[in-house]
Amino acid sequence: MKNLKRHPPLILVVDDDLSIRILMRASLEKAGFRVDEAENGLVAVEKFKKSEPDAILLDVMMPKLDGFETCRTIRKSANGVNIPILMVTGLEDLDSIHRSFDSGATDFITKPINWPVLNYRVKYMLRASQAFFDVIHKQKQIQELAFFDHLTGLANRTMFMDSLEIALTESVSEQTELAVLFMDLDRFKTINDSLGHHIGDILLKNVAERINTCIRESDTFSRIQLTQSKNYVSRLGGDEFTIMLPQLINPSDASKVAQRINKYLAESFTIEGHEIFISASIGIAIFPLDGTNPEALMKHADLAMYHAKEKGRNRFQFYKKSLNIKARERLRFENDVRKAVVNEEFSLWYQPQIDIQNGQINGAESLTRWNHSVLGQVPPADFIPAIEELGLILPFTDWVIRQVGKQQHEWQKAGMRPIRVAVNISSKHFVEQQLPEKLKSAIDCNNLQPHSFEVEITESVMVEQCSETLDILQDLKKLGMTISVDDFGTGYSSLMYLKNFPVNSIKIDRFFVKNIVQNQQDAAIVRAIVGMAQGLNMTVIAEGIETGEQYTMLREMGCNVAQGHLFSPAIPADNFAQLIQGGISYHNI
Ligand code: C2E
Ligand code: MG
Ligand code: MG
Repeated sequence: MKNLKRHPPLILVVDDDLSIRILMRASLEKAGFRVDEAENGLVAVEKFKKSEPDAILLDVMMPKLDGFETCRTIRKSANGVNIPILMVTGLEDLDSIHRSFDSGATDFITKPINWPVLNYRVKYMLRASQAFFDVIHKQKQIQELAFFDHLTGLANRTMFMDSLEIALTESVSEQTELAVLFMDLDRFKTINDSLGHHIGDILLKNVAERINTCIRESDTFSRIQLTQSKNYVSRLGGDEFTIMLPQLINPSDASKVAQRINKYLAESFTIEGHEIFISASIGIAIFPLDGTNPEALMKHADLAMYHAKEKGRNRFQFYKKSLNIKARERLRFENDVRKAVVNEEFSLWYQPQIDIQNGQINGAESLTRWNHSVLGQVPPADFIPAIEELGLILPFTDWVIRQVGKQQHEWQKAGMRPIRVAVNISSKHFVEQQLPEKLKSAIDCNNLQPHSFEVEITESVMVEQCSETLDILQDLKKLGMTISVDDFGTGYSSLMYLKNFPVNSIKIDRFFVKNIVQNQQDAAIVRAIVGMAQGLNMTVIAEGIETGEQYTMLREMGCNVAQGHLFSPAIPADNFAQLIQGGISYHNI
């Protein structure tokens, strides 16, 4: 339906009598309208399609197609449902008036025509039609807000659930199957955090387009379904999308669609000069096997998606009953982790670091320990990723930093010599800018030397978020803290990064140390890393040293600092203080 406000309205005058057409044109043009003419019903239908008039004056008595038939034909065409049609009839009998309305006319006027009245009739019809248009337009806007995601234009959750309900009713009566796909982008948060929400939003729009293309080209959709398919794909919010595939011929078709989506997403996106790679994890639930109502199907598809993610992303997973138990356990675990962060249920242990030259402890790495009431000691490798996924890593690290500060203060109060403590800092901290202030405040509040803190980052930090990271690291360095690169050799290991970032030391990952004696290749890698670090004036810390042979080799290669169970595992703060105060030396180990 057209908005009439944009131009002088165009009126199509349909009459087989030339003189009437001329008179009508003159009268309407004088009133400010534009006029188009048709001499019979067939021409009128053609002209209506071509010139899209705003109203039609239609003579009833015409050869070929009479006015009633013409009106009916126009009403049936795509844009003809709401156009105002004024029937011009010479027959002022009730029967023709009935017939006019039956054929879809908006109003009628009788011959002989009263010209001023005609103009007002047309104006009135147009005004009414404009008002109608406005209402419809507003309704549409309200509907868009209520039922569609404004970013991608896809259906929102409400719309999707409604459509799913309808599709399920059809599936029941037609005895067909239906699939619900629950899709979540992998690592979207990292992209959003590192490149900004603006880029994140554009990426989501592009992803929505690719899903739509994929669905349009899919053979599981018939032509009829495609007209409604707008509601078959939704963005639930964030980076979660859902797709329904009604009238499935075979459930395996759902996996074909899932595979195809991942194939489409595999091609990189270029957004404002950034080349972005993304994949998705997809869970699939099938009606009626996995659920018979929209809620159950969504819940199970979501669970399956979760499982796909756990198995290593960029894949799909059909729902199975066993997933339920796993998911419930996972949910409970996440809840416990959340509570533990809020209630600060963790403790910090300290693993000594030994200066290889003199065998003295010259630092420690702080490592978090969590004693779960049912599960016992939970390894950090399990709970740290959960903390990150729950979005709680910032408050968690705040706690670690405060704790390390307080602990050092207590140690010094007890007469222990100052010691450097390394803190593991998750890459997520290089998005927030307050890390330097937080560390500085821990130092100031506890009367510590700036070099009491060492910041351990991973290689990925340097690779993922360059310029901001560099600023933060330089601030840390200015404050007098040292920076080490953890797990070196397992990630990107680019020399370029090491050269450009203010790094003091690198920690050779325990994976290399573990095999250094038996595996010549690992030995060669460690030797190369040490040589490189020396060239860059960096200290080398070897972690995970468990045997004397490993230690000897690393010492001979030129490592500076040693850490590992050979000397001591991470131990509680009091035990660590005893080691230091006992003056332990590992010189002759
Ligand atoms: P990481 O930073 O590489 O820490 C070294 C890990 O090696 C620690 O594991 C430590 O206990 C272990 N380790 C040290 N010496 C030996 C050895 O001789 N043999 C063996 N097999 N292992 C050794 P842990 O405590 O399980 O921590 C695992 C990872 O969890 C850490 O790796 C670190 O990435 C993370 N993590 C631990 N605490 C924190 C924390 O407070 N904050 C953050 N963001 N991450 C933490
Ligand atoms: Mg570490
Ligand atoms: Mg490490």
